[in-house]
Amino acid sequence: MDKRSTTQKKKALIAKKCPECGALMRSGRTTLHFERGGFYADVENVSALLCSRCGTRSVPGPTALKISNAVEGLFRAGKELDSTGISFHKVAS
Ligand SMILES: [Zn+2]
Repeated sequence: MDKRSTTQKKKALIAKKCPECGALMRSGRTTLHFERGGFYADVENVSALLCSRCGTRSVPGPTALKISNAVEGLFRAGKELDSTGISFHKVAS
């Protein structure tokens, strides 16, 4: 699974199967919701793989890491604000 074939020419038409139900997952967008210490953050329109059968979502590792770093910063900033939550949106272009 961790071996990467260098001879593979086709570029990632990812047909990943849902770990929950085995249906094929499609790429799409979803909203991630985080809560911590009385604050929340919603991150919308995140690229993810979605299962149309059971609704399982899978966000690619590097994306998930970036988002969690960003959200971490938001929660830190949020402590300084007289507020209960932050919505963090990237406007679709
Ligand atoms: Zn599924």
